[in-house]
Amino acid sequence: MAGDFDAVVIGAGFSGMYMLKSLRDRLGLKVRVYEAGDSVGGTWYWNRYPGARCDSDAYIYCFTFDKQLLQEWEWTERYPTQPEILRYLEHVAKRHDLKRDIQFSTKVTGAEFNEDTNLWTVRTDKGERVTAHHLIAAVGTLSTTNMPGFKGLDKFKGKWYHTSRFPKEGVDFTAKRVAVVGTGATAVQAIPEIAQQAKQLTVFQRTANYCVPARNGKVDPELVKARKADYDNIVQRIRESFFGQEHYFIPKSALEVSKEERERELDKRWDAGGFAFWLANYQDMFFSKEANDVIADYLKRKIRVTVKDPKVAEKLIPKGYYYGTKRQPLDTNYFETFNKDNVLLVDAKADGPIEEITEKGIRAGGKEYEFDIIVFATGFDALTGPLKALNLKGRRAVSLDKEWAEGPRTYLGIQVVGFPNFFTLTGPQSPSVLTNMPVAIEQHVEWVSDLIDYMRKTGKTVIEPTPEAQDQWVAHVNEVVNTTLMTSANSWYMSANIPGKPRAFLPYLGPEGVGGYRKKCDEVAAHGYEGFALV
Ligand SMILES: Cc1cc2nc3c(=O)[nH]c(=O)nc-3n(C[C@H](O)[C@H](O)[C@H](O)COP(=O)(O)OP(=O)(O)OC[C@H]3O[C@@H](n4cnc5c(N)ncnc54)[C@H](O)[C@@H]3O)c2cc1C
Repeated sequence: MAGDFDAVVIGAGFSGMYMLKSLRDRLGLKVRVYEAGDSVGGTWYWNRYPGARCDSDAYIYCFTFDKQLLQEWEWTERYPTQPEILRYLEHVAKRHDLKRDIQFSTKVTGAEFNEDTNLWTVRTDKGERVTAHHLIAAVGTLSTTNMPGFKGLDKFKGKWYHTSRFPKEGVDFTAKRVAVVGTGATAVQAIPEIAQQAKQLTVFQRTANYCVPARNGKVDPELVKARKADYDNIVQRIRESFFGQEHYFIPKSALEVSKEERERELDKRWDAGGFAFWLANYQDMFFSKEANDVIADYLKRKIRVTVKDPKVAEKLIPKGYYYGTKRQPLDTNYFETFNKDNVLLVDAKADGPIEEITEKGIRAGGKEYEFDIIVFATGFDALTGPLKALNLKGRRAVSLDKEWAEGPRTYLGIQVVGFPNFFTLTGPQSPSVLTNMPVAIEQHVEWVSDLIDYMRKTGKTVIEPTPEAQDQWVAHVNEVVNTTLMTSANSWYMSANIPGKPRAFLPYLGPEGVGGYRKKCDEVAAHGYEGFALV
């Protein structure tokens, strides 16, 4: 039975935009996209905090399906700011005439699978109900704001903001007493910017972070030209790579080389800036505690040299987890900012944790700090958060929330048993946030499009993983990550940033990264979509 649409796509960031383009313009399907925001962009529509910019190099943080645009578009910096990335995505929407099939300012509030018609009924906060054959979640991995339930927030007389819901008109911090709560990748970008404006900035730190310099700036025009000339090869390389970037491990142990050689290699990566230090380091960094320790020691020394007050430096030195097991923040004058007279660091362990928000500010460690503005840089309910919020009911009206009560269970991070014809783009247990995400997004969009095309051509109407394939995938995801140090950290990768969230490693790590995962997905397709039941 035909529904109102061949496919409903939820979300209009990178994923939803390309999914629409692919299903509508390549396969000729009737598609409706719902987007909660009032325009395209996703992450780059919502995250408007000072200093917001990408950490992936721009020449690969973009769509590669549009070869002409790769040649035409000129990024102004190595890591463009949020407004520039949003301009780019608006340009893509216009160029491919995407907006006519996107309904903005509309949130999907629920969807149910009908086992008689094999259609999804999708409901929105505008009171609509539409049916669709395929339901595709392009809801993002970092799109559900995590706002810790601090006691007393409603009493605060000043203004407060979450970085992921910053006002479009911006916030003027001039002559204000400002608090930033959090020291993750977002805070590391925002703190130096806010400190330049505010009269007084107080940073509340729960966990110190290992940061490496971004080294942003104009890219040498000769390099830009060379990259444009080589784009086909670049695209192939990043698609086959581990992290969706042109970074490759040093094929040696950090412990088998001399101290001098190791320092030279680490200096090279430190000087280059960006993700090289994290993702192009010694190959045993994520596996061996001893190897990790010597690399972490390099970064700790950098903090001690940069931060003038040894007591502050000590608070900023990460403890209790291995380097690289949390998302790597890239910084521009982050540690230097703590040398400023108008910046104070309040560390949960050394000074006491936040106890409550008061009328005047924040009470931590028994002391009240007064503020005009509080900025919460407390991150997201990553990966599972936006999917659970969809309020999905699959076969026998079982909810996704219930299915995932103990953590996500998927096959290939693309489908879930009991939720036929429902697809997650960059969902849990796929490489997603461990990659330069456009690479993972394009792979998923193209693979799901091919699958839907295959179904149409072979007259299949329902697809769902087999329970055995899902069990094996879940076991494989855990087995692979358990050989690494990643599970030791209380990171958002491990679901540990949110009290009560079941502890589980959310993305899929290897063994050959996104490149190996692509091969695996292609093999599954080549074997008639092995592991899926197609009816
Ligand atoms: C501050 C920040 C910096 C980042 N930097 C990088 C980087 O340097 N490199 C990198 O690879 N990745 C980075 N990321 C990850 C980034 O999210 C991805 O690169 C990419 O933008 C994801 O695109 P997406 O379309 O999958 O999801 P999103 O961009 O998150 O878009 C999802 C959209 O779905 C909408 N949505 C969700 N639920 C519903 C619903 N129920 N109804 C209607 N609409 C809904 C949301 O409003 C949102 O617009 C960053 C993320 C953040 C937050």
